[in-house]
Parts: sequence; C-alpha cells; structure tokens
Amino acid sequence: EKLKSGMSKTRENISGKLNSVFAAFTRVDEDLLEELEETLILCDMGVPTTEKVIAQLRDRIKEERIREPEEVRRALAEIIRQLVEYDAPEEKYPKIILIVGVNGVGKTTSIGKIAHVYKEEGKSVLLAAADTFRAAAAEQLTVWSKRADVPIVKYGEGHDPAAVVYDAIDSAKHRGTDVVICDTAGRLHNKKNLMNELDKISRVIDREYPEAERETYLVLDATTGQNAISQAKEFAGVSRITGIILTKLDGTAKGGIVCAIKEELGIPVKYIGVGEGIDDLQRFQPEEFAKALLD
Ligand code: GDP
Repeated sequence: EKLKSGMSKTRENISGKLNSVFAAFTRVDEDLLEELEETLILCDMGVPTTEKVIAQLRDRIKEERIREPEEVRRALAEIIRQLVEYDAPEEKYPKIILIVGVNGVGKTTSIGKIAHVYKEEGKSVLLAAADTFRAAAAEQLTVWSKRADVPIVKYGEGHDPAAVVYDAIDSAKHRGTDVVICDTAGRLHNKKNLMNELDKISRVIDREYPEAERETYLVLDATTGQNAISQAKEFAGVSRITGIILTKLDGTAKGGIVCAIKEELGIPVKYIGVGEGIDDLQRFQPEEFAKALLD
C-alpha cells in the first residue's frame, strides 16, 4: 500500500498514459505498438530498453496470436516484471555496505533510512562517516544516526576515510554489530581520487573484516532521469556496484528508469526512496513494481 501511494506519481503517470493508449485502441496493430513505444520512452525507460521491450511484445503478440489490447497490456506487464526481476540471495551477517553517489541525490537520507529498515528487522547497525571531504557530511549523518537510534563513528573533516572505516570495523567487532553502513565521498569530477579512496577502503575491509559480506550501493536520484543512467555508468567504471538505491521516486513520473538501470547496466535496484521521512524507503519488489505500473 505504501509502495502504491509512494509511487503514485510514477504510477498515475505511466499507468495513466498507458491506460489512455489502451483506451484509444480497439485493435492490436503497429500503431498501438508505436504509441506504447513513445509512452515508455516518455517515462524514462530509455531508448535501448524500450526497443527491447517492444520487440519482445511484438514477438509475443505474434506467437500467442494476441488480438485484444487488454491482452497486450497483460503481456507488457509480464515483460516488465521479468525485466526488473533478479535473484535476491539470502542476506548474511555481518555485513558492510559502502554507499556511493554524488552530492544531493539523497545519500545521507538513504543511509539513515536503511539503518532504520535493518533496525526494524531486529538487526544492529553502525554508521561510519567516511565522507570526510564535505564539511557538513558527518554532521548530517549524525542527525540521521540519532533519528534511527544507531551509533556512529566519525572523525573531523579532512581525515583519512579508510581510518574511519578501520575504526568502525573495530567497533562493530566489539559490539557484535550486524550491519555497518559507510558513507563515502562521491566525487565524480575527480575519478582518480574517488577510485583511490574506494580502493583504500576496500583494502581495509579485506584485511580487517574478511568475514563480512560486502555490498556497494550507488544512490541515484530518479528525478534526474537519463542523467542518473550516465552517473551509474561512470560509477560502475570506478567500482563494482552491487545495487542501486533509487531515490525521489515519489517526485517523478518517470519510474521507467528502474527498467533502464537493470537492462542497460545489469545492476538491480535494491531500494527505492519514496519520501523524505525515515520510513520512506522500501526494499524494491519487482513483482509489485510491475503491478503498480500496469494494474
Ligand atoms: P546527499 O547530499 O546525497 O547526502 O543528499 P541528502 O540525503 O542530504 O538529500 C538531499 C535532499 O533530497 C534532501 O532534501 C532530502 O530530504 C531529499 N530526499 C532524499 N531522498 C528522498 C526521497 O526519496 N524522496 C524525496 N521526496 N526527497 C528525498
């Protein structure tokens, strides 16, 4: 329900647009497919992904001898579901999650929200303020650590991020913490620095915390549309991204970006942000997503 209301803008728009397309057609023909293609591109599914989806749809219409626009809608929902689906392995603990992403996308907020998700599930969480580049980063993260009621490890501005992570790991081991979430600086304009920094952090984790399962999540702002895709491509060139946190899905009609990210980059969307509050983050559910779009 929360997903539905949170995604209402996306849903209203994509499903609203698709609804009017389907309402305008009584027959299944090339014109219908063309209209659908245009609509999906408008919803930020991106050209390559949209073309693939439409090609699959065309095949199915032929193979299954689909004659009714309503059946086309069902086939489209199924294709989208398969597109965003992925095998989610069972979560293992202890776990350490590096969070990367450019400023303003909702990195800090998302870290607070993820901490809250794990806490609600009965897990213990520790935050590491390893974005020591931005003056206010640790302060903002401290605010979220209080909101989520989880401890935080932080140093002053300009300290070595890898040292912060080292301390956080040390503290997590002593406390028996389930999940360590590390904020990092996401400076794309200086790729070499970012790469060095992430490498250094990785080496610390390799050495000090080999038993922990490791994830690197990239935070992307859904309202930036295709720009988010290019950010994802750049970050994927610097580091192995294991999941995406797609924020501000409540503020956009362009939920098609979820499909584009999965198809073009092969990286699953793990969480979606649907508001500014601590409860406004959900684990991404492919099935529900497809349903919300096309029901
Ligand atoms: P950072 O610079 O990447 O750490 O970004 P912040 O976490 O400070 O967030 C930037 C702004 O985006 C803040 O005003 C947040 O409240 C807002 N924000 C973050 N996530 C979401 C979301 O899912 N939905 C909405 N509507 N706003 C969000």
